[in-house]
Amino acid sequence: MKTYDAIVIGAGHNGLTNAAYLAKSGLDVLCLERNDYIGGATVTRNLYKDWYYSSCSYVCSLLRPEIYRDLELARHGLQITPYGGGTVFMENGDYLGSYPDPEVHHREYARFSLADADAYERYSADTMRQCRFVRDFLLSTPADPTSFKPKDLKELARLGNKFFEMSEQRMYDAIRFWTMSVAEYLDEYFETDVIKAALSGSGIIGTALGIHSPGTAYVLLHHYMGEVDGNMGAWGFARGGMGAVADALSNSFQSLGGELRTDAGVDQIVVKNGKVKGVALTSGEEIDARIVVSGMDVKRTFLKCMDKNDLDADFYHRIKHFKIRGSSGKVNIALDGMPTFPALPKKSPLLDGDMHFIDSMERMERAYDDWKEGTWSKDPYVDMVIPTSTDPTMAPPGKHFMSCFVQYCPAQIEGRAWTSEERDQFGQTVIDQIAGYSPDFKDLILHAEVRTAQDIEDQSGLTEGNIFHGELTMDQLMFNRPIPGYAQYRGPVAGLYMCGSSTHPGGGVMSAPGCNAAREILFDLKRPDVTPVNFSED
Ligand SMILES: Cc1cc2nc3c(=O)[nH]c(=O)nc-3n(C[C@H](O)[C@H](O)[C@H](O)COP(=O)(O)OP(=O)(O)OC[C@H]3O[C@@H](n4cnc5c(N)ncnc54)[C@H](O)[C@@H]3O)c2cc1C
Repeated sequence: MKTYDAIVIGAGHNGLTNAAYLAKSGLDVLCLERNDYIGGATVTRNLYKDWYYSSCSYVCSLLRPEIYRDLELARHGLQITPYGGGTVFMENGDYLGSYPDPEVHHREYARFSLADADAYERYSADTMRQCRFVRDFLLSTPADPTSFKPKDLKELARLGNKFFEMSEQRMYDAIRFWTMSVAEYLDEYFETDVIKAALSGSGIIGTALGIHSPGTAYVLLHHYMGEVDGNMGAWGFARGGMGAVADALSNSFQSLGGELRTDAGVDQIVVKNGKVKGVALTSGEEIDARIVVSGMDVKRTFLKCMDKNDLDADFYHRIKHFKIRGSSGKVNIALDGMPTFPALPKKSPLLDGDMHFIDSMERMERAYDDWKEGTWSKDPYVDMVIPTSTDPTMAPPGKHFMSCFVQYCPAQIEGRAWTSEERDQFGQTVIDQIAGYSPDFKDLILHAEVRTAQDIEDQSGLTEGNIFHGELTMDQLMFNRPIPGYAQYRGPVAGLYMCGSSTHPGGGVMSAPGCNAAREILFDLKRPDVTPVNFSED
C-alpha cells in the first residue's frame, strides 16, 4: 500500500494552504475533505440554479498578500474587489454613513458631533498602530516563552524589541488595548452613541462576548489588520463568492502535484507505537502517511478523531476546555431585485458597503443578553452586504444575493437542540429587522438559507459553529493558542501537526496558520523553507 509523505485533513482554506506549501517543497501530499465540496467556511454553494451563495464567510481582507502572490492565486482565478463604506440605519429614520474618503467621512460624523469627527483621525491612527504591531507576527511561529532554543529566543527578542521600540505611553496603551472591552476603548474617543455602536460591531463578530466584555477591543483589531490592494483595514469581495479563495488555493495545490479527495471524511487519526501512521476514513479505508496535518479545529481533531488513549491526560483536559463557543449565525437571501432603503439618498454608494440595524450601545449589549440566556438575539447585530451590487457573477442578471451575518446565535437553545420552527423564527427575526428599514425587501425574497451555529457545525465542521475555531481572547492567543506548550503547530504525537484556525494567529480567511504550520513541518523534515518568511509591508 502507498505511503504518502503527508496527509492534510480538511480542504478548508488553511488545509489547502498547508497542502500547497508541502507540495511546493516536493512532498507527496494528499488532502482529504469530508464534504463533496471544498472550502470549509470559505465556500461558495450553488444551491439553486444560477445562484452562488457565500454560505459562511462573505468578505475578504485578512488573506495574507505574501501568500496570495507566492501561491499565484490571481493566476489561479482569485480576484478581490475592494468595497467601501458602511451604514447604520437608525430607529429615528436617520442613518450614519461611513465613507472611504476621509473628508466625506469627517463631514458625516460632524453631522452628529464635531468632536467625534475630529476624534476619528486619532482613533484610526491609534488602532492602526496596534494593527501594525500584530501584523508583524502573523506569518511567524509564536515563540515558546519557556524555551531556551535559539529559534524561540530570537523570536522572543523580536517581540521584545518591537515592544520596546514604542514610547512609554504607547507601551501602556498597547497592554491596556489587548485586555480592555471595545466599549471602554471607544469611550476614550467618542461621545455619540450611534458612532460607538457602528464601530463596536467589529469587536463582537464571531465572539461569545459582549461589547462590555474585556478582550473585545482585540477582536476589533482582528477585523482591521487585513488589507486589499495594500490598503490596510480595507475589505473586499472575492469575485464569484468566497469559494473563489478555496478554489484558487486548490488549483495552486494541484498544479504543484498535490492530490485532493472530497467525500473522504476522516474517522480516526491512526497512531502506532506513539507515532502517527495515517488515517482511517469513515468508509473504513485506511491510508498511510509519514505525517498527518489537521486543518480541523482542535476539539474536532483531538476529541472526535483521536483515541483518548493516544493522548496525554493533561493535554486532553486542556483541549476539552479550549473555549470555542458558538455565537454566530448566517442568513443568505436571494432577491428578485435591489431592495430600497428610503433613509438613504438614491443610488447612495453606501448600498455597496455593509449595512447594520442597531444604533445604540444599549441595543448591542441587549443582543448579547439574549445569547447568555440561551437563545438568539431578538434584536440582533446583523452585518449585511449585497455583493452582487458590484459582482454580477453570483446571481442571474438583475437579481441580487444578500449575505447577513448574525450575532448572536447559540449552538443550542437553552441547552437543547434547535427545532426547525426555531430556525425559521431565527431567519424571520433577521428578515423583519431589515424590513423595518426597507419596505420592498420582503416582497423581493426568492429563497433563503438560514444557518444557525449548529447548522454551521453540521455542514461546515466548525465546532459549535465558532467562526474562528476558538475564541480570540488573550488566554488563547499567540503562544497560548490553542493551548500553552502546543502553539508551534506540532501535535502531542510524533508526526502529527495542526494547521487550522485554532492555531496562531487564529480565524478568518487569512491562510497564515496553514502557511506557518508548513514552515514548521519543513523544518522538522529538514527541507528548505518554501514559505514566505515573516511580514512584508506593501
Ligand atoms: C458564518 C461565518 C462567517 C464568516 N465570515 C467571515 C468573513 O466574512 N471573512 C473572514 O475573513 N472570515 C470569516 N469567517 C471566518 C473564516 O471563514 C474561518 O475562520 C476560516 O474559513 C476557517 O478556515 P480553516 O481552513 O481554518 O477551517 P475550516 O474552514 O473549518 O476548514 C476545515 C475543513 O475540514 C473539513 N473537515 C472537518 N472534519 C473533517 C473530517 N473528519 N475529515 C475530513 N475533513 C473534515 C471541513 O469540512 C472543512 O472543509 C466566517 C466564518 C463563518 C462560519
